Amino acid sequence: AVPLVVAVSTAISARRGILIKNRKTLESAREVDTVVFDKTGTLTVGELGITDVISFSPETDEGEVLSYAAAVESQSSHPIARGIVEAVDELLPVDRFSTIPGRGVMGYVNDSRVKVLSYAYARKLGFSIPETIINDLMEEAKTLVIVTVDDEPVGCIGLADIIRPEAADAIRILKSRGVECVMLTGDRQRVAEWVAGELGLEEYHAELTPQEKYEVIRRMQEDGRRVAMVGDGVNDAPALAQADIGVAIGAGTDVAIESADTVLVRSNPLDFVDLMDLAGATYSKMK
Ligand code: ADP
Ligand code: MG
Repeated sequence: AVPLVVAVSTAISARRGILIKNRKTLESAREVDTVVFDKTGTLTVGELGITDVISFSPETDEGEVLSYAAAVESQSSHPIARGIVEAVDELLPVDRFSTIPGRGVMGYVNDSRVKVLSYAYARKLGFSIPETIINDLMEEAKTLVIVTVDDEPVGCIGLADIIRPEAADAIRILKSRGVECVMLTGDRQRVAEWVAGELGLEEYHAELTPQEKYEVIRRMQEDGRRVAMVGDGVNDAPALAQADIGVAIGAGTDVAIESADTVLVRSNPLDFVDLMDLAGATYSKMK
């Protein structure tokens, strides 16, 4: 009788767009006491809108900063990439594209090596960024990427996130049930602080690499917490695999979906609450 109840629950959930890839999901979902959400693409919609383009040098105007960045981003499926590509009419060809998960992308455009990097990572690589020019932008809760051409920073692009309306509901419901909610992000501290504030999240961690996201999950588990991780990106894959249940956002990348135990096909964080309800109902029927 046990497998039958599980099978029925799995069928019900599939109809709601909750794709349960493995059996342990329902069992673990019942015991989860901590839900860790990725920010970009999970709590926020899968596309960031460009708000600012700044050039650092007279040789490269705003339009060129944008078109270099868009050429490289045309090969990426990250929410930042979609926003940047959306903003141009024509794409320059790019070759030898590669990605640095949670940090940026690079490729060759017109035989120049172009990188689009997080502000933190650009600093870490030792690029000198004209702080005075981007000071105002730094203060705002915007995602910033630095564009370099042949290892010369040529400009900066500011992008804004839109919070998924259902994310606030999901977090409110989970908190009311005593489930702890935490946000992780590779984005800047300033942006994380704003999103966490909007969603009523007390715990959040910013500027994390994919490996650091994984480590946060592992440490929580060592403290005896039962952790669900909800994420959309390549950068979430190690954390999704480590969590007691990994939940991928349907609109996310293939790598996230492969690493997860369950997929929220509708990309709605509220469906995670349904998953927990279903898990509770399934196992109470078995008693
Ligand atoms: P999150 O953890 O919130 O989903 P990510 O880890 O995917 O965010 O990204 C962290 C940061 O890495 C971004 O804010 C951005 O600065 C940089 N980044 C990631 N992917 C890209 C990309 N395709 N182009 C430019 N920057 C990127
Ligand atoms: Mg993400």
